[in-house]
Amino acid sequence: MASAAAPELAGRLGGGPSLPTDRRGWLPVSHHTAQRQRQGRRRQAEQPTQCRAGGRNRNRVQVRSDGYEHLGSSQTMRNKRQFPGPPPGQGPPLRVLPIGGLGEIGMNCMLIGVYDRYILVDAGLMFPDFTDLGMQKILPDTSFLAQWRDKIEAVVITHGHEDHIGALPWVWPALDPSTPIYAGAFPMQLIKRRLQEFNLYDEGRCHVISMRQNFQLGPFDCTPIRVTHSIPDCCGLVLRSDHGTIVHTGDWKIDENPVDGESFDRQVFDEIGREGVSLFMSDSTNVLSPGRTTSEAVVETALMNRVMGHQGKGRVITTQFASNLHRMAAVKKAADASGRKICFIGMSLGFYLEAAARVGRAPFDPKEVIQAANLDQYDPNELLIITTGSQPPAALSLPARNPSHMLKLQSSDFSLYSPKVIPGNDTRVMQMMNRISEMGPEIAMGRDENLHTSGHAYKGELEEVLRYARPQHFLPVHGEYAFLCAHAQLARENNINFTSVIRNGQMLGVADRRNRNTVSMGSAAGIPGASMALLGEAQLTNFYNDGNKGTGTASEMALEERQLLAVEGIVIAAVDVLRDAAMAASARRLRAKVRVTTRAMWVAGGGLLEELHRAANDAIERLPGDAHLAAVERVVADALRRTCKAFNQRRPEVVVIAHEADPRAGAAAMASATRRQADSPQGDRGGGQQRGQRGRWGQQQQQQQGGRRMSDREAEEVLAERKRRKQAERERQLLVAPKGGELDDMGAPSGAWVPAGGCSGPVCRAALGCSGRRWPPAVAGRLREPAAASWGLPRPRPPIIPSASPSCLPLPCR
Ligand SMILES: [Zn+2]
Repeated sequence: MASAAAPELAGRLGGGPSLPTDRRGWLPVSHHTAQRQRQGRRRQAEQPTQCRAGGRNRNRVQVRSDGYEHLGSSQTMRNKRQFPGPPPGQGPPLRVLPIGGLGEIGMNCMLIGVYDRYILVDAGLMFPDFTDLGMQKILPDTSFLAQWRDKIEAVVITHGHEDHIGALPWVWPALDPSTPIYAGAFPMQLIKRRLQEFNLYDEGRCHVISMRQNFQLGPFDCTPIRVTHSIPDCCGLVLRSDHGTIVHTGDWKIDENPVDGESFDRQVFDEIGREGVSLFMSDSTNVLSPGRTTSEAVVETALMNRVMGHQGKGRVITTQFASNLHRMAAVKKAADASGRKICFIGMSLGFYLEAAARVGRAPFDPKEVIQAANLDQYDPNELLIITTGSQPPAALSLPARNPSHMLKLQSSDFSLYSPKVIPGNDTRVMQMMNRISEMGPEIAMGRDENLHTSGHAYKGELEEVLRYARPQHFLPVHGEYAFLCAHAQLARENNINFTSVIRNGQMLGVADRRNRNTVSMGSAAGIPGASMALLGEAQLTNFYNDGNKGTGTASEMALEERQLLAVEGIVIAAVDVLRDAAMAASARRLRAKVRVTTRAMWVAGGGLLEELHRAANDAIERLPGDAHLAAVERVVADALRRTCKAFNQRRPEVVVIAHEADPRAGAAAMASATRRQADSPQGDRGGGQQRGQRGRWGQQQQQQQGGRRMSDREAEEVLAERKRRKQAERERQLLVAPKGGELDDMGAPSGAWVPAGGCSGPVCRAALGCSGRRWPPAVAGRLREPAAASWGLPRPRPPIIPSASPSCLPLPCR
């Protein structure tokens, strides 16, 4: 049994006789591939990639990462989290596990699979709101993906928006180096550029897909279907398997008259409806909007009318999302009709246009765009300026705030505000518009102007597609939780009885109802007759990126602390402890010089600083002459906090740094304190280092002991016992390799358990029959990630080791 399982596992884990960890301690990874990749990245980093910026900085070269340094802790394993779901081969066969995008707009990232084989659909980011101070990106849980990388066979991207590809520089390194990625030609250009910025691009892994062209995608036979959206080359996915068909729409609307002539593929939706859809997943963004979206062609007409209406009156400035090439095409048509030339303000506009030009999808030649630096050389009546100033801070907000910006607004300008205002940005957009109005330009914005149309389907379109697909089960995706619930309700109103709403991390299992064998087994999560059920939940955490190398969890990026500093302010005190070497031991009072300063606080004309200064000095005066620096810092910090609370009801961050004016005096004082403590068996109550260390812990113990205060000796014993227990637990965790290195047919270790790597200790040999040999690295390595845990099986409990045994654990194996 073991021999049958081993090669299969070795294949899944990357094969080879040994499975070394990479420098993040990750298993399994193909060592040579990873090494080659790192060497390649280093070489690339030494020869900077040509990430050309647009406009004035056109030839600026950026090297954002060596392919590793931007990852922060996003690949660090977190407590070996279980992969949700039933044991192998059991439960409903079709599985969906959203990593992001359900219960929020953005960060779309989802695992879809058949039993234990998965593909990853999209790898998007989310933009933080104003409470995530200093953050620029929110990323899905890449550490979870990295932990279970051996289950993910391929990645497929539905389209090129940031909320679908933006997290790839973090997701890509989390996956096995052999995992391929599939995307349409245009999104692939965007992906290529993004990965090159981070020195991650590997052409051999990238595959371009075409609409209606089937290809093998992990356990599925995948057919991409053309959908219309606010960026070119978007697809939905039809995922066929032996156990049923899953359809994922991606982001979509039905544009009856698309600018690029590529229509929504109703025919395929109708065909798969007749063929049978086990599970249908659809975009919920606009489920609360009744009716249907308007076509980009309507926006084109409105833009044309507005631009023609400003003929001979000055420049026209339009704002839009850089990725919306349909809108860019409409603006170009208006420019051509009015005899104006296009100029881009905002680096990303050129980036998207050039990427589209490389795959033959650009609405016009990028060479026709005039340089922003040359704006002054043109007659204002010949200019149509496109900016990305849709959401501050962006290009249009800069000239509104900063007169030295390359675009200087003129009173004769006409500003057409075309994009949708992202919820949460409303106030800032309005402030920007106010500033622009004050400078003179006329502004046209608002829904009634027909200057914008959504890229996401309204209720009428959602119902139409549900009628085409006629799925057995429905799962709403891409939206806030309330939107998902409303979409599920809409599906029920359209006679789809089996709907479910899940959150990120929850695994949904679906069994095809037309497959009698599967349904008669009962099968979803053991509920007889159920064909759709929640199979488990993974504990996921989001990662935050600060726009540069800093990436980590909310606590690692100190988000709470940032908010505290922003709201409550900060107090900083420097305490210069003045001790006389000769007098220190006998001094009854401590002397010190204190300096206090604050930031982001109301100081009442200096009144607060005086209060803080007085409080700090009073606190120090109450300390004995040989008080430890840690005790000084703690006592002063407490006094400063109390003072701020009393003065102004504020709870600022307080930082106190104490140091010895004369280090020799400090050493003498410490020696005196230690002697005094040794002489007093009841413990030093005078505020030495030990008291400082025990602090809160001692209070907790006191509470646990029914209010009786422990003596220092008792406290030491408790601490020592706790230390012993921790050590025993650490040793217990080392016991992961099975006797003889055997695995049962599910990859779970069988037989008695012995220390990892074998053991030569005589007690171990006697008690457990340990051979004393080192286990083959392949077996030991594989068991660092026990397959049993990955399949949700309870891990076998290691036997209790005789008390003498731990002493032989650290001995090296022969
Ligand atoms: Zn989109």
